[in-house]
Amino acid sequence: NGKKKNILITGGAGFIGSHVVRLFVEKYQEYHIFNLDALTYAGNLENLKDIEERPNYTFIKGDITDEDFINELFNTHKFEGVIHLAAESHVDRSIKDPLAFVKTNVIGTMNLLNAFKNCWSKDFKDKRFYHISTDEVYGTLGESGLFTEETPYDPNSPYSASKASSDHFVRAYGETYSLPYVITNCSNNYGQNQFPEKLIPLFINNIINNKPLPVYGDGNYTRDWLYVKDHALAIDLVFHKGKDKETYNIGGFNEWKNIDLVKLLCAQMDEKLGRPFGTSEKLITYVKDRPGHDLRYAIDASKINKELAWKPSVTFEEGLEITIHWYLNNEDWLNNVTSGEYQNYYEKQYS
Ligand code: NAD
Repeated sequence: NGKKKNILITGGAGFIGSHVVRLFVEKYQEYHIFNLDALTYAGNLENLKDIEERPNYTFIKGDITDEDFINELFNTHKFEGVIHLAAESHVDRSIKDPLAFVKTNVIGTMNLLNAFKNCWSKDFKDKRFYHISTDEVYGTLGESGLFTEETPYDPNSPYSASKASSDHFVRAYGETYSLPYVITNCSNNYGQNQFPEKLIPLFINNIINNKPLPVYGDGNYTRDWLYVKDHALAIDLVFHKGKDKETYNIGGFNEWKNIDLVKLLCAQMDEKLGRPFGTSEKLITYVKDRPGHDLRYAIDASKINKELAWKPSVTFEEGLEITIHWYLNNEDWLNNVTSGEYQNYYEKQYS
């Protein structure tokens, strides 16, 4: 009958969410995409300027912790699919203010689950609640081994504990109320539009401004890195083709010790900025370790690779180059988000 399916994407003004919203709005004319976002310090509608006029797109400013508002929103729009990315997402902030993480990540997720469960109609065929989660729920690895979908949850930071908790609620709603769901646990993302409190954009910004590059501990912390547009493509695949009640790990097959990553970034920045090789590396300063810091995360992404034929489309070097290029060409974006409130937070954090 030509009626579009209403799909809700939460946190769409944030880093990963904005890439997912753009992909869905451009690719699926048969959907009406509603982007719900509270526009916290991490949300920025400039990320979506190019698609804001599209007829199959609506932005809604609102907070997922507001139960009445969420219930009314679901009653009005009868969403057939929810892709839930809204979250407090920064580990360092979770150490300073854990309760904010419980509110948004746990209670906010509960509100969405309840509202989704209560507004089903018999006409819905492919309804699905998709929770976007992190590999940090698995805790830490030693020198070897990989996280698989069977690895027991063992979160160490308030952030990862809140994400683990929300994952458990999603599963529990699947078992208890037969809510159709899917969960993905992804490694560290990088790319365009990432708020410069996270390692890669923070360091790009600091190198541009000749500021120190604060490396935690001895720099041997190891993470797997994935280009954000490859994550968005994986989300599209899992939303449409993933099996019900399943979890998929998403990773870049791309492990880096922090210090090696920073050195690669410094070399690429020297080249881009036309500075002599070694200039940026001089900015590296080792800072006091983060409490509860996990040594190593590494993802076994073979399930999504085999079952859904997903794999990253760019190498790390390519992705990093695209990312650096974008930040150097979007100075206004960078200046806007690094002024005001963020500047105060940053100065307190690293002074
Ligand atoms: P982000 O911090 O850039 O964006 C989060 C968005 O959620 C922001 O736009 C913010 O305004 C919004 N938001 C926060 N609280 C809200 C609330 N109460 N109500 C409505 N909106 C709210 O985060 P990101 O890096 O894009 O991460 C998105 C999701 O992906 C999160 O769930 C995160 O846990 C998960 N994830 C992130 C990474 C990563 O490397 N960034 C890796 C794996 C999983």
